[in-house]
Amino acid sequence: MSEDLRLHGELIGRQGSRRDLNTPVLVLDVDALDRNIARMAELAKARGVRLRPHAKTHKSVDIARRQVAAGAVGLCCAKLGEAEALARGGIAGLHITSPVVSAPAIARLIALNAASDRLSVVVDCPDNVAALAGAASPERPLGVFVDIDPGIHRTGVSSAEDAVALARQILAEPSLRYEGVQMYCGREQHIEDYAGRRAAIEARTDYLRDVIAALDAAGAHPAIVTGAGTGTHRIDLELGVINELQVGSYIFMDDEYLACDLTGEGVAPYERSLFVDARVVSANARGMVTVDAGLKAFATEGKPPRPEDEALAEGRYAFMGDEHGALVGPATADLAIGDMVRLSTPHCDPTVDLYESYHLVRGETLVDIWPVSARGRSR
Ligand code: PLP
Ligand code: MN
Repeated sequence: MSEDLRLHGELIGRQGSRRDLNTPVLVLDVDALDRNIARMAELAKARGVRLRPHAKTHKSVDIARRQVAAGAVGLCCAKLGEAEALARGGIAGLHITSPVVSAPAIARLIALNAASDRLSVVVDCPDNVAALAGAASPERPLGVFVDIDPGIHRTGVSSAEDAVALARQILAEPSLRYEGVQMYCGREQHIEDYAGRRAAIEARTDYLRDVIAALDAAGAHPAIVTGAGTGTHRIDLELGVINELQVGSYIFMDDEYLACDLTGEGVAPYERSLFVDARVVSANARGMVTVDAGLKAFATEGKPPRPEDEALAEGRYAFMGDEHGALVGPATADLAIGDMVRLSTPHCDPTVDLYESYHLVRGETLVDIWPVSARGRSR
């Protein structure tokens, strides 16, 4: 049992009831989590591809350990700070999927490379390659991937010619280890309709194939082709170009991803494991109650959260400021002050970053508390 859980047990007088938790609380169904982890690991193994799940989703050493135990070759990290937190927890094979460019950040990156096995980072411009090469040493080369822009112009080189030039530059640097290419098609992941998503990712994959052919012709074959998210990974596996999956959200399955038909058959291969439990704190108005989870309890850029309870879900949740939300609808008449309400997470990654810890449950029993190890570490 973690120290947190012991303390929590003392605070609430007895250990282990979900109903006694202080709210709002980020709740994780540990069995659903484990089933999701196992399903993805089995799929990657059966298809003979590497699995390097993205830690931007969970920011958790405990979850990373479970993914590695299930067969992951390491973890992806969005930012250097996330990688530092996971390395401190003993996770190896970390790959940073955004460029690291400032001098102080590069100094941290090199320090991390000395302390962490198989560290890598993406690059998308010659100056950055030169800066990394100058900071790293041939005795402890830094792993580098050429990042390929999938068309949204966020990061990545914008042509096959630029990819070849960058790969050649990396190959000429003894302090850098050329690992391959990354192309993450973020925009395509959340196309809800399967056929539409498939057509979009096929077009992007045709382009990726052309870039790889140009690299091969230049003697810069990319051993690892990393990419894919929860939305396209099954299609990516069929297309057979990506050989390392960076999937993140499959472990939690938020509203946005549950709205996507991942298989083309309307069958969800992964299940919802992450919830926010809130509590009714006021019930003086007819047809609504107020709960203690508001703008600080959920990512807010998408649709609002939904109550898990079917009768309550016929009504709706609405934000009522930083600290509160309203549940509206006839079924709220059955709720009293202090009652707990289970809410969905519309978008998992930015929601997790709002919490210090996961409260792990099995049914109604609290079984552990895990820290959100890399919470706030976006730099
Ligand atoms: N790879 C990169 C570079 C990402 O930015 C993300 C998520 O935004 C992922 C992988 C994981 O994708 P998903 O959460 O869709 O599985
Ligand atoms: Mn996301």
